[in-house]
Order: sequence, then structure tokens, then C-alpha cells
Amino acid sequence: MTTASRKSKPKTPAAYIKAINQYAGREFAADIEWSSSCNPNATRYITNENGASIEDPTGAPGCGNRYYSRDIPRDPTTGAKLERFICPNPNCGASLRSFGNLTRFGPASE
Ligand SMILES: [Zn+2]
Repeated sequence: MTTASRKSKPKTPAAYIKAINQYAGREFAADIEWSSSCNPNATRYITNENGASIEDPTGAPGCGNRYYSRDIPRDPTTGAKLERFICPNPNCGASLRSFGNLTRFGPASE
């Protein structure tokens, strides 16, 4: 597999399944792309005094901002993307969850 095909990204669910199935039962390499959104159609989550994420008792919704890999902060100790982070919008402050998606599949030896 060439570097160019390693860089290609499945565009549909069927293409995603085909891309991952070609490595079924074998080790493979992939990139992880992170994303998160601050949902304006649902009550936001906030961090309480114990550090837990709870539904905002005021019922305030999220601000609608979307975040991608470059926006999601890393754990300063491990360097890993944080599973939860505070919405960077200064007028929001919701507790957001980040989600990782595998993409750009390739052979493990590459
Ligand atoms: Zn927000």
C-alpha cells in the first residue's frame, strides 16, 4: 500500500467498513481523529465541585461550537487527548466529551 492510499480517508460508512475489513485479523496502522461538539439542542453538562460532569441544573444548552483534533487539549502528563475538556468559548464553559475515530488505515509495518 502506498503512502497516498494510507492518507485517503473513507468517505461513507460502506467505504469505512471496506477499509477496516481489509486488515481483519491482522495488525494495522491508523490515525485517530478527535472531535467534539457543544450541542445547542440539549442541556449542557458542567463540572461540579467534585470534578464530576453533571447536567446543568439551570437547563442551559451548549453553545453550538464544534471542535476537532487540533482544538482538543492534551493531558499534560501523558500527552493523550483528554476525554473531557471545558468548552473554550468564554461565554459557555460546558464540560464536553471528545470522541476518537479511526481513519487512514494502513499496514502495521508502514
Ligand atoms: Zn460551548
